[in-house]
Amino acid sequence: MSRVYNFSAGPAVLPEEVLREAAEEMMDYRGCGMSVMEMSHRSKVFDEIIKEAEADLRELMNIPDNYKVLFLQGGASQQFAAVPMNLMKNKKAGYIITGQWAKKAYQEAKLFGEAVELASSADKTFSYIPDCSDLPITEDMDYVYICENNTIYGTKFKELPNTKGKDLVADVSSCFLSEPVDVSKYAIIYGGVQKNVGPAGVVIAIIREDLITDDVLPGTPTMLKYKTQADNDSLYNTPPCYGIYICGKVFKWIKNMGGLEVMKQKNEEKAKILYDFLDESKMFKGTVAPEDRSLMNVPFVTGNDELDAKFVKEAKAAGFENLKGHRSVGGMRASIYNAMPKEGVEKLVAFMKKFEEENA
Ligand SMILES: *Cc1c(COP(=O)(O)O)cnc(C)c1O
Repeated sequence: MSRVYNFSAGPAVLPEEVLREAAEEMMDYRGCGMSVMEMSHRSKVFDEIIKEAEADLRELMNIPDNYKVLFLQGGASQQFAAVPMNLMKNKKAGYIITGQWAKKAYQEAKLFGEAVELASSADKTFSYIPDCSDLPITEDMDYVYICENNTIYGTKFKELPNTKGKDLVADVSSCFLSEPVDVSKYAIIYGGVQKNVGPAGVVIAIIREDLITDDVLPGTPTMLKYKTQADNDSLYNTPPCYGIYICGKVFKWIKNMGGLEVMKQKNEEKAKILYDFLDESKMFKGTVAPEDRSLMNVPFVTGNDELDAKFVKEAKAAGFENLKGHRSVGGMRASIYNAMPKEGVEKLVAFMKKFEEENA
């Protein structure tokens, strides 16, 4: 068996310990004679898996009792619709446009009401986070929406926007569990888990309870109503059982490591190795305003498309996979999620140094 260093933006690298444990339990989950993939979602065994996963997540993120944790499907993209359907009582909400995912959410919200662009960093290819200290938020807005970590462009909100008392909704797909968060500052935190937490197919939504009501937009499908999912503890229909089981293992892996404080330290250390190199390199340049740099997604360029392509090709041959930048940006992007070992980043930087010398 040989594993590469996988810098994919998502689906992405998972902890080896988790994959090994899942492999060991594949044929016979803890003496029940079947795989978790094969068991009823109503069984006692699965009930324990999902309850334990939720309890561990609550502990890790210190989630207050007045928030529900939902394990959903449909990807983060389905929440682009579910959020307005459940929250847009006044049919008006504010969106901060910091990249493609925020823009898609904003466009989807327009199907349901008035989505107002409060700020945008489109003028500089989303390479920074706009000033959000005094946004044109009006009294009739139902919520303010952000994409907290911009997977494609490599920016992250280091400070939450001043929402002037309005509920904050955040897509945290690519920074989920990468550092501690104060859940009480949000109305909804949600993310697809395939970036930093588990396999594709699960979306986790953490929602303040008073927002979970029958008062949703007319025509909201039963499945997209948060109340349906909350009333049934995420078991209204068959949930993505195997994905939830793997997420549970990742929660335990983070807990065993010391929790989100430790995770953050490790992520800062890793990111610093790469950013420090980009800051001193004559060939490779980071593309993001230094104060807004993501700990998770690090885009960089040489400024020469042919050289970029050569780098990606040679890196792949050397065991560094998925370094090609998003199709909309070009260049390179190294996603260095929780499960990317420090050694992987060190070796990547060593490879970049060598490439720079050879191609100077
Ligand atoms: C990947 C990603 C999405 C889209 O996720 P899907 O699960 O494919 O719908 C949305 N938002 C962010 C921030 C992402 O990184």
